[in-house]
Amino acid sequence: MPELKSKSPRKPEPRIGPFHAGVASALFGFALAIISLQIMLGLLHAQLRTEVSVLAHALEGRPGIAPLARSPHSLLNIVQAKTEIARPPTDNCIDEVTGWLGLPPRHSTEATDRMLASAVCQGADFKAAALPAGEGLTILLAKDAGSQTVRLEAVTMRHAAPRGIDVLLSDRSILALAVGIAFSAGIFGYFLRRNHYLAYVDVRDRAFTDELSGVLRREQFLANVQQTVTSLREQGGTASVLAIDLDHFKSINDRFGHAAGDEVIRGFGRLLSTAVRDGDVVGRVGGEEFMIMLPNLPKYIAAEVADRLRKQMAAHAYCFDGNDIFVTMSTGVASLMSSDDVASLMDRADRRLYIAKSRGRNAVVWEDDDNHDY
Ligand code: GH3
Ligand code: MG
Ligand code: MG
Repeated sequence: MPELKSKSPRKPEPRIGPFHAGVASALFGFALAIISLQIMLGLLHAQLRTEVSVLAHALEGRPGIAPLARSPHSLLNIVQAKTEIARPPTDNCIDEVTGWLGLPPRHSTEATDRMLASAVCQGADFKAAALPAGEGLTILLAKDAGSQTVRLEAVTMRHAAPRGIDVLLSDRSILALAVGIAFSAGIFGYFLRRNHYLAYVDVRDRAFTDELSGVLRREQFLANVQQTVTSLREQGGTASVLAIDLDHFKSINDRFGHAAGDEVIRGFGRLLSTAVRDGDVVGRVGGEEFMIMLPNLPKYIAAEVADRLRKQMAAHAYCFDGNDIFVTMSTGVASLMSSDDVASLMDRADRRLYIAKSRGRNAVVWEDDDNHDY
């Protein structure tokens, strides 16, 4: 006889549980954090772009200085560069200064910057000049470094348009903030779904489960059996059914009272639920009548399962009001044939149950005159 694991009766599960809802909410929160960051960066960028442009265009001159470097993740790109240039001969000095600044060559008509360069090279008395650089701004500082050289420092500011995801990945504090938002959203989603889920499970269990025995109600049992038989047929599998009836149950009620009978039904439901495998279906189909469907189990093994249950039941004392109540069970076993529908399969199991009763009860019957199943 195969070892059987304990299980509860099979019930349909809702598709989205609290854990899935939590993960989905966390992902949603993370995406929201990135989108918010992108929108915020967009607004800041637009503001900065306007302000730097206004500043640049307020200065006299024209665009012409190439960016000195790039830093993709910040809103304002500030680059500093330094050089020292030999003052004489003057033409070389001017070329070097203009080249260093990224200005046009000497013969160019872009004279303003060359004038600035030549002023630097001739030692003009100025400390700083501001040059527009595209939509950005370059500030040039010239310092005499002795009579032969001039020291130049250029600071270029340009607005940049970083992507939210890049800023997020390059800045730990922003990343931590986004993860925090995602985590909070995940927890929120989890608990929101959990409450709905628990309410759903409660309603479903009450609708599908027999209150007294804890196994499936008749209607739900029949629906599950129908569904299982259909899918087994598609897979070419087999199944067996046990029809179980408690023996002389009326006399239990008569001797010990209805509450004692209830206690036996409750305990018997627990026994069946814990004795079957995952995927087996247990139902209470009448007062003290139960059925079990065992998918993919041939009849002779199903009969062994039934006999083990019979022995367990016969040996078990139900304690009620100081009384030890012993109850036996009779079982009819049938297995699915290609000509069967659910009703004919259950009828055959029932017929064998009544043979077990007629043979004196506390018995398992899996054959009769019409023994074509196996
Ligand atoms: P048999 O061995 O032939 O099955 O005898 P039996 O007494 O079990 O059969 P019968 O059908 O005559 O009686 C079944 C009894 O089970 C009658 C009914 O009062 C009792 N019963 C059915 N449902 C419940 C229930 O939920 N609680 C209790 N306490 N008794 C129940
Ligand atoms: Mg009975
Ligand atoms: Mg009965």
